[in-house]
Amino acid sequence: MFKRTIKFYNIIIIIVLLLLAFYSDKITNNYTKTETKRTISEQASSFKVYFIDVGEADCILIDDNGTYTLIDGGNNDDGNKLVKYFNELGITKFKYVIGTHAHEDHIGGLDNIINNFTVEHFLMPDTTVNIKSYTDILKALQKKNILYETPKIDDEYTINQSQYKIFYIGNDREDLNENSIVLKLNYFNTSFLFTGDSPAYVEKTILSKDLKSDLLKVSHHGSQYSTSAQFLKKVNPKYAVISVGMNNDYGFPKDVTIKKLEYLDIEIHRTDKEGTIIVTSDGNELYFENQKTDTNG
Ligand SMILES: [Zn+2]
Repeated sequence: MFKRTIKFYNIIIIIVLLLLAFYSDKITNNYTKTETKRTISEQASSFKVYFIDVGEADCILIDDNGTYTLIDGGNNDDGNKLVKYFNELGITKFKYVIGTHAHEDHIGGLDNIINNFTVEHFLMPDTTVNIKSYTDILKALQKKNILYETPKIDDEYTINQSQYKIFYIGNDREDLNENSIVLKLNYFNTSFLFTGDSPAYVEKTILSKDLKSDLLKVSHHGSQYSTSAQFLKKVNPKYAVISVGMNNDYGFPKDVTIKKLEYLDIEIHRTDKEGTIIVTSDGNELYFENQKTDTNG
């Protein structure tokens, strides 16, 4: 009887010890997580990504605590409106201006940007095309004595507190979309994947990269030839932003793309429905707001 009681108590003690070990580990883990989150919030200052409503085109402004980067510049007609909008925001200088590829709906307004602001670095794929939007850029760069820089895959850049890495760039591919610069941007614990108009071919070549991102700028305005299921699963974003014009001629975004995003429970934001989409990061989470801007040419 006595022996059995001892045995019984031993078992109880062992169970209690195991429970203690398990929970103390959990408590420490949670504590470390909260601590890290708190430290990041203290270090992070102000970080915003604007998906500017430029109709059937792309224009993305990154404001990393007053250091600005521009990815694409809408259509030709958007140029002056963008200059006005950036003036209103108090911008005088861009650290990086990136033209993802030489289609008008991505680089149309970039000559106006180059002519009206200080541009420290201009990045674009190496392309030979005879498109007016493109030759206008070359002229503007020459006039302001700015170098035309072509980044290489895996090149890394620092904006201010954020960094981005070139995941893809095509050089002189016949399908201009296949030249699209794809880059991933990290701001503390949050990440964004910018894809230009890259088609499934490009997505396939970068599958081995660290694609996982909180936000995906859906490629090619939601075209059916991009956002392959395989790619989307690897990016595994919480949010998707589609830059697209209301009632556009192409029927973008395509239903098949929307369905893929919905199937994976990804929160969808569209410039044709919301206007300019402003995403703020505190280093841990992303927050969305909309703005009606007079930037749609
Ligand atoms: Zn496009």
